[in-house]
Amino acid sequence: MSGKRFIAVRDETCLDCGFCRHFVSCSKMQMGRCIGCGACIKGCPQGAIRLQPLADPKSTINFTVDGKSYTTQGPVSVLEALRELGRVTDEPGSKAGGIQPHCSTGGCWNCAVLIDGVLDRSCVIPLREKMEIITTLEILQQAEPKRTVTLMRPAPHYHPSVFTHGCNYHCDLCHNWNLTFSSSGSAIHPKEAVTKLDLDPERDSWVGISGGEPTLNRAWLTELVKALHKAVPDSRIQLDTNASLLTPDYIDELAAAGITDISPDLKALHLDTFIKACGTRSEKIARQYLETSWNAVRYLNDTYSKKIFMAVSLPCHPRIHSKAEIEDIGRSIAEINPEIPVTLIEYQPAFQLRDWPFLSPKIMEQAQKILESAGLHKVIVQGGPEIPRAVDPAELALCSEEF
Ligand code: SF4
Ligand code: SF4
Repeated sequence: MSGKRFIAVRDETCLDCGFCRHFVSCSKMQMGRCIGCGACIKGCPQGAIRLQPLADPKSTINFTVDGKSYTTQGPVSVLEALRELGRVTDEPGSKAGGIQPHCSTGGCWNCAVLIDGVLDRSCVIPLREKMEIITTLEILQQAEPKRTVTLMRPAPHYHPSVFTHGCNYHCDLCHNWNLTFSSSGSAIHPKEAVTKLDLDPERDSWVGISGGEPTLNRAWLTELVKALHKAVPDSRIQLDTNASLLTPDYIDELAAAGITDISPDLKALHLDTFIKACGTRSEKIARQYLETSWNAVRYLNDTYSKKIFMAVSLPCHPRIHSKAEIEDIGRSIAEINPEIPVTLIEYQPAFQLRDWPFLSPKIMEQAQKILESAGLHKVIVQGGPEIPRAVDPAELALCSEEF
């Protein structure tokens, strides 16, 4: 078996911000050889990196998967080798099984397999000679799930929060891009995360789980919510999510684990707007994400209105959302329940669109009025200086080594 092999090259628009060298689990940086995994591409704030076919892959690699021997040509990631064996499914929530690489940047660990006896991410780990890979679900489930996270008490509320790395979207305006696309934080088990948060039931009445997209690794998230609930049983545990994977059975599982608040972040109602906002390349997958997120809002309202507090978030920018789109979103939420609280969030300049202007409060007020006219009763606006500024790539500049 052997498919095409690639290496990453960057163009002259590179800012030398250092993100791809210091914040990404990169085989080239760690082992001196690019495996074409593409993790650096998603996090580059300039869009300056692309994959280029490798004309003549040199190395032959012998490895085993679930005890069976295979040979392929390197350099290549474990994930790509598994994909060539038909063991990867790129369709979210597919019942077909297989490894599901949701973020492909080494953050979510949903593609983790046992590599020489140790759980690790197939998307960013290079395939090596004599590597022994285990993908059997029953065996993987015995390993404690891990995920790359950043633990903090962020302004303005300073509540303990778990920021999960990795996202299945690629929003050009990603506000948390430096965490979302980074895989260099600590990869820890849920119980370890709770221990490190050092929670105090007297002080910590609220704990946040945000990201990145927390739902990408279901086993990890469910265990985290259980562990948080055990540590601070009377505290509120809030999940910020794009809801694209939040199926009814997943919501049931989180409810049983102890989640108290869920904030689905709806990016759009119509597919073309959704693709513009979230950068999802496959129309089929974008449609699935969009439908699942709206169904999650319906299901939470219809099934859990007394148990889980839901407030919908709507990031908004006139260059992405037309007035008609905002009106349609408002009408669709009002049809579910006009009392659902909605937070209209100003999309501020960030990441690959950091040259976009900040919006005037008037524009957000207009959007608020459109939502209210569409039938929503509880719309608030979040914008201006109350939103902490996104990290500018210039702040990351550490050095300017050759790529
Ligand atoms: S150094 Fe920064 S701008 Fe340059 S390629 Fe890497 S991530 Fe992109
Ligand atoms: S993250 Fe590293 S190994 Fe992966 S494509 Fe980029 S340079 Fe190559």
